[in-house]
Amino acid sequence: MLDTTIAGSLPKPAWLAAPKALWAPWRLEGAALDEGKRDAVRLALRDQEEAGIDIVTDGEQTRRHFVWGFVEQLDGVDFSKMVTIGIRADRYKADVPTVTAPLRRRGPIHADEVRFLRGETRRPVKFTIPGPMTIADTIHDAHYGSRAKLGMALAALINEEARELAALGVDVIQLDEPAFNVYMDEVRDWGIAALDRAVKGLACKTAVHICYGYGIKANTDWKKTLGGEWRQYEQTFPLLAASRIGGVSLECANSRVPMSLIGLLGGKDVLVGAIDVASDRAETAAEVAAVIREAMKHVKASQIFPCTNCGMVPLDRELARAKLRALGAGAALVRRELA
Ligand code: ZN
Repeated sequence: MLDTTIAGSLPKPAWLAAPKALWAPWRLEGAALDEGKRDAVRLALRDQEEAGIDIVTDGEQTRRHFVWGFVEQLDGVDFSKMVTIGIRADRYKADVPTVTAPLRRRGPIHADEVRFLRGETRRPVKFTIPGPMTIADTIHDAHYGSRAKLGMALAALINEEARELAALGVDVIQLDEPAFNVYMDEVRDWGIAALDRAVKGLACKTAVHICYGYGIKANTDWKKTLGGEWRQYEQTFPLLAASRIGGVSLECANSRVPMSLIGLLGGKDVLVGAIDVASDRAETAAEVAAVIREAMKHVKASQIFPCTNCGMVPLDRELARAKLRALGAGAALVRRELA
């Protein structure tokens, strides 16, 4: 009951990549980089286990950015044709590669990482893959001619990959779809269909992470424009309730999302964000517990998974550790009340 997990990423050690940055370049190369990534995954697992996190991830230690880990392994994407575009409805600029031909997986993408992860912990593991709409929003298309077509092509490839990862022992596959909070009409028109295609026939549990982004300035500025109550989820949750997806990860800590909206998710699991990733102070266990108790007014405890609001990759490493410990301790507090 109230099993804890994290959205996905954790800060990387400074010897592996420049700290407190997205898209940070690696500080190692060749075999040393491979070994460094594995060591960083071990550390990420130990930090989660010691903090009492029940469903663990690899902290996304092996990828430079949550979208590129997948896209770099696709045929049909030309990384020599980089284009600067505005992503997430022009909230920030990114240099992205170009789709020039039909997309295909060159082969297994994350299988080696998952085999390693599975061998390093006895806890249930969650693995994250970017969702079809978010990839489509972070790439320049010169082939498909429509975001829906591109998204559905990506969904088929994500499904191939996810089936293989489930067969390797992944307990939860989570698709990351921050774009779902930006393009609500597209979510309705093709986003949910793409999500359903991506998780079709999977033998493991599934979830989708929808958020208001990392705690970086472009996002905190954007949030200021969203008004006193953030109701984006209100349009999306009833659609998700009718979808194949098993659970939804959202941000509830220090956000202006009315908690009652999680009641729109029907019988889905709810990964309740109880850790703010945009603050430079660690929550107390009592603060985490208060968010969980509030969520329990709208969803049964058996369907609540206390979680972080979003990925913690841009945070200070010690701060992220303290936040992990608060998450574990806060959930334990509420569990004791229920016992
Ligand atoms: Zn997020």
